[in-house]
Amino acid sequence: LTILGLESSCDDTAAAVVRVHADGSAEVLSSVVLGQNDLHASFGGVVPEIAARAHAEQLDHAVEQALTQGDLAMTAVDAFAVTAGPGLIGGVVSGVMCAKGLAAGTGKPLYGVNHLAGHALTPRLTDQVPYPYLMLLVSGGHCQFLMVHSADRFERLGGTIDDAPGEAFDKIARLLGLPQPGGPSVEKAALTGDNSRFVFPRPLLDRQGCDLSFSGLKTAVLRTRDALITDNGGLSGTDQADIAAGFQAAVVDVLAQKSRRAFAAYPQEATRTFCVAGGVAANGAIRAALEGIAQEFSAGFVAPPLALCTDNAAMIAYAAAEQMAGRAPDGLTLSARPRWPLDTSQPAMLGSGK
Ligand code: ATP
Ligand code: FE
Repeated sequence: LTILGLESSCDDTAAAVVRVHADGSAEVLSSVVLGQNDLHASFGGVVPEIAARAHAEQLDHAVEQALTQGDLAMTAVDAFAVTAGPGLIGGVVSGVMCAKGLAAGTGKPLYGVNHLAGHALTPRLTDQVPYPYLMLLVSGGHCQFLMVHSADRFERLGGTIDDAPGEAFDKIARLLGLPQPGGPSVEKAALTGDNSRFVFPRPLLDRQGCDLSFSGLKTAVLRTRDALITDNGGLSGTDQADIAAGFQAAVVDVLAQKSRRAFAAYPQEATRTFCVAGGVAANGAIRAALEGIAQEFSAGFVAPPLALCTDNAAMIAYAAAEQMAGRAPDGLTLSARPRWPLDTSQPAMLGSGK
């Protein structure tokens, strides 16, 4: 089964071809990601209208490149998959329109996929992780704990009530005058910093459950920075490094503690594997802490390679392949869903943790 996937829900235009074999193993035949960083750089963030137009212009190229890279003809594709939400509506619509065109032109079926399901199923694409497994999705726009029971049953254990950690890393980098994207530059600065000089708040640790919050942490960093500038007329390299280290330590602590709660909410046999996805999983300190938690609970730890952890279309193609058995294709009436929670129900056992 060969599936061509499209992804355009944020600021990456992506197309990929994934082949799923009879034994369930999957092969990424090609994966093309056309970023838009240059277009948005001068605005300090993603501008939805610019993103939508760029997706509309780039999608055809991405599809062509994905076929070329995989040395494939369009006739080799058995089905099309596209992110139908959640995300920026203009971009999602661009992707859905393009996918409908491909499906109508070839007569092959079309499947709309939830972007978050794509992220959540990636450990099966890369490592064939058996269900159920615990997943922490931690990226620029998301932070949530999911119990993944099957390709279409995701139980949300908790998540951020305000900002996502990736966004916080980006904000802190701006505050410190470090380059974007903020994650890698803050991580680098933190390496030489003293993480005990500034002790930043660890929000919601006193609260039951797996919900997280990062906006108070951002504000605390802002205040510390402003006080240093007022007192000393600016930030020294040491100040930058110490703030970065203190901030990262707080994020690590919060993610680790809440991961423990997520584990504790379930009987051990349900969580044999702890998986992470999202760009923030690239952070060495965060990754190491999460791996340590998995060990504490005698679970395996899977962090897919970064190219499949961040936004890509291979995860969308793969998610469609997994879901196909249990659902009908969407057809040409498929519409974009800017909001599309994977699951909003409360887990039965939440709160039994520490
Ligand atoms: P989403 O997938 O939520 O729609 P996104 O495209 O912003 O949004 P990703 O591409 O998964 O998310 O990840 C990008 C984010 O990851 C950025 O905020 C970036 O700062 C962060 N990030 C990347 N590398 C690191 C790192 N080493 N440490 C911390 N954060 C990082
Ligand atoms: Fe994403």
